Amino acid sequence: MILVQCEFDTKLKKSALELLGAAQKLGGDITAVLLGTGAGAVATEAAQYANQVLVCEDALLEPYTAKTFAKAIADLAEQAEATIVLLAGSRGGRELAPRVAVRLDAAYLEDATNIERIEGGLRIQHYAFLARVTETLEATAPIVVCSVKPNTQAIAETRAAGEIYEVELELTASGVNILGRIQEKTTRVALTEASLVVTGGRGLGSPENFALIEGLADVIGAGVGATRAAVDAGWRPYGEQVGQTGKTVQPNAYIAVGVSGAVQHLSGMGKSKNIIAINKDPEAPIFKVADYGIIGDLHTIMPALIDAAKKLRD
Ligand SMILES: Cc1cc2nc3c(=O)[nH]c(=O)nc-3n(C[C@H](O)[C@H](O)[C@H](O)COP(=O)(O)OP(=O)(O)OC[C@H]3O[C@@H](n4cnc5c(N)ncnc54)[C@H](O)[C@@H]3O)c2cc1C
Repeated sequence: MILVQCEFDTKLKKSALELLGAAQKLGGDITAVLLGTGAGAVATEAAQYANQVLVCEDALLEPYTAKTFAKAIADLAEQAEATIVLLAGSRGGRELAPRVAVRLDAAYLEDATNIERIEGGLRIQHYAFLARVTETLEATAPIVVCSVKPNTQAIAETRAAGEIYEVELELTASGVNILGRIQEKTTRVALTEASLVVTGGRGLGSPENFALIEGLADVIGAGVGATRAAVDAGWRPYGEQVGQTGKTVQPNAYIAVGVSGAVQHLSGMGKSKNIIAINKDPEAPIFKVADYGIIGDLHTIMPALIDAAKKLRD
């Protein structure tokens, strides 16, 4: 049995659909786990991809703490007799996965970009040593817990709907009280969930010029990305970095503006369905992977592109 811890808001997050896709690829029965407020509302969606869905909305799961969630997932893994437990390599999932592994006394594999079943366990690939090295690892153990890097797996396919069960767990209060929460207010779509991404590189020349990237992103409803050069220069937050040491994205269209196309950047966006590059250097490596390219000065092209996008939108 493969147990999949699914992240959701009002519907399953892309990370969950990818984990379910990875589980389908591995083969075998799949149990999807939905924890916390609103879990019941996404159960029918999850049932399309799994043999069974376990739903728990226990009050002690709110507010979220890794300790309580890890106990809940481990208890459900034991109940379901899972031999493989998959969690998203998101910030939350990476916090949870090792805790779940310890509770289950399981082997632990982290941030898989590729995952396959072997006799008695799993083989994965992941980046190591600041992403300079791609390692292949195997774990053979009665239970293997594995976190999977977002945007590296195919989305799950729908199949005959599985059973949905509301489960009760014996949880204890975590001992953590959240006294306040300040939530970032953004109307912009999250980078790893976005079907369109506009990314700026060092070619922008200054942090102020990222207004061109944000301007286009806002008109077309895209997420905003940045290269490591732009992040290291302090122009953009690390959360926007795309590449080996940043986020991996796989949107329908990836618009790279003033980005040279270094191999470490390509490894984070190379699986995008369409790559559109804007660069003044016709020899820039990004053009080797681009489906569409505009050779020219971004300061001329971007305002024209934003105007054209606004006209289309309106
Ligand atoms: C271990 C390791 C990990 C790394 N991880 C990452 C990572 O996760 N993500 C990442 O992005 N990088 C990563 N890097 C860095 C990577 O090697 C590159 O240095 C970086 O991606 C370059 O960023 P850039 O394309 O913005 O800058 P540059 O390489 O300087 O390219 C700027 C581009 O802008 C173009 N340009 C300039 N002015 C204009 C203009 N007016 N109009 C149009 N085009 C213009 C130039 O022709 C050029 O092609 C990593 C490096 C190492 C060693």
